[in-house]
Amino acid sequence: MKNLNQILTGEIDRCLKDLFPITRSITGPGNRKTLKILQEIAPLQIKEYPSGTQVYDWIIPDEWRVKDAWIKSSKGEKLVDFRQCNIHLVGYSEPVHKKIMFEELKGNLHTHPELENAIPYRTSYYKRDWGFCTTHAQYKALAEECDPLEVYIDSEFNSKGSLTIGELLIQGESDQEVLISTYICHPSLANDNLSGAVMTTFLARELLKHEKPKLSYRIIWVPETIGAIAYCAMNEETMKNISTGLVVTTVGGPGKFGYKESYNTDHPINTVIENIFKKEEIDYINYPFDVHGSDERQYSSQGFRINIASITKDKYYEYPYYHTSLDNLDFVRPEYIVETLYLHIKVLKNLSSIVIICNNNKSSPVYKSNYPNCEVMLSKHNLYPKIGGGQLPKFGTYTELDLILWLLFLCDGKSTIEHISKILKVKKVELEKVALKLEKKELIERRVF
Ligand code: ZN
Repeated sequence: MKNLNQILTGEIDRCLKDLFPITRSITGPGNRKTLKILQEIAPLQIKEYPSGTQVYDWIIPDEWRVKDAWIKSSKGEKLVDFRQCNIHLVGYSEPVHKKIMFEELKGNLHTHPELENAIPYRTSYYKRDWGFCTTHAQYKALAEECDPLEVYIDSEFNSKGSLTIGELLIQGESDQEVLISTYICHPSLANDNLSGAVMTTFLARELLKHEKPKLSYRIIWVPETIGAIAYCAMNEETMKNISTGLVVTTVGGPGKFGYKESYNTDHPINTVIENIFKKEEIDYINYPFDVHGSDERQYSSQGFRINIASITKDKYYEYPYYHTSLDNLDFVRPEYIVETLYLHIKVLKNLSSIVIICNNNKSSPVYKSNYPNCEVMLSKHNLYPKIGGGQLPKFGTYTELDLILWLLFLCDGKSTIEHISKILKVKKVELEKVALKLEKKELIERRVF
């Protein structure tokens, strides 16, 4: 007879296999289908936010649908085929049908810089563009074609469409809510972040099994960034009253456990997680808070300041298969997700037994962000690289983009540039240059004291 653990592992395995092939993005039918399948496990509500809605500095984009995409040789042979693997197509590609030479096509092709057999995952959400991602062998085969190649993308954008999210509220004895958020916008990529969406759903089912919990839980399944921003905008008052939570991401890899601290390291959520790792004698990697990362970027922004941590198993950015076709169901195993699920249950149980005190740790100001609610849409202000998905932040030495993100995060009208320069260990003069650029674009304003 199977024990409970084996049954759970089997259920998670089936769920992963059902969901893995679906083409998800920040909007579209794949997200609805994914949430419908998850509804069979936990009673989440599906909500739609219309395209074109202004949410802080962002606008909910047109809904994207794709039916087919391929590149054919002059002999009619499909050299790249979206139906074989959905990450062959750059996410949010516009429709295309034309015959072009390789020399012209190559500007729209992406390969992985190191992994020859991997198809990289790339997106172009906010700049209309198109492209294909290939292995090195496929790229070579395309390059060897002397005749024109036929490029076909059957996609469409619907301005009357919407962005789809899932939501489940579990009422506890106290109205104080803990936020649990995961993202559903990645197509066939297993650890980042199908593992997170699946684990969150089984976590919701577990939380519902038990008697009324002490704290209340707000569990949401949103497309990363724009979905989290839209959710904050649509539920602003509620979200501003939440003090802590977890972003569930990359929880199913074979590697080490890790945890990303919340922005205020004094917040009890950090101690709770550390104590559980110690009690379970689990060796883990500690990741300090950083302005890069997942949706804690929105939830911890100045207007909300929710202390969000993440428990990971092969954290995003860190494993070699990150954002490639090799992040598949050979890499992610249901047994790993069960392990991380139990850790999350323990964290939530312990969190509810302590009093949550919000300590915002504020000090003295110079600049104040004009966009305190969620992130600024950097591309709109010409401050962001064109193609998304491929950037890895540099640590140690900061890029200008890093400093822009840090300044937007830290300029809360309280912290002096001097104080920020000490935190970041960056020369004051370098920070002042970037601050000036942001001030000219009216993203931050100088405060007089
Ligand atoms: Zn990702």
